[in-house]
Amino acid sequence: MSIAEPFTIEQFYKFLTTNQLMAGKCVKCGKIHLPPRPLCNNCFSKEFTWIPISPKGTLVTYTIIEVAPERFQALAPYAVGIIELENGLKIPGIIQNITQEQLKIGMTLTLNFGTASPPQTWPLWSRYHFKP
Ligand SMILES: [Zn+2]
Repeated sequence: MSIAEPFTIEQFYKFLTTNQLMAGKCVKCGKIHLPPRPLCNNCFSKEFTWIPISPKGTLVTYTIIEVAPERFQALAPYAVGIIELENGLKIPGIIQNITQEQLKIGMTLTLNFGTASPPQTWPLWSRYHFKP
């Protein structure tokens, strides 16, 4: 980990494939960006530092996807949730290894690092999954 790594979605996924959930923290105003972005939307600074984020979070809301986009058809039906991590950071993700009956708002979920794969456009598809 170094400050020299670019603050891009590609780098975010590179960290995920090495089992690290990393966010970009603005050096100027301290705002934490997850996913990272090259320009702070709070103070317009371009100076960031990488900080590790715990992969454990809380399920805030979820939707059951019955009709999936083509690339996810094999998974359907599946749940997509918004997971709140430390520092109030929220990210979307597919939830696996759980039945619809077991899904509960407020339950603890952990990012399943093994599921991260090469990036697509954020936030259209989250290329990582959560599990209980
Ligand atoms: Zn800032």
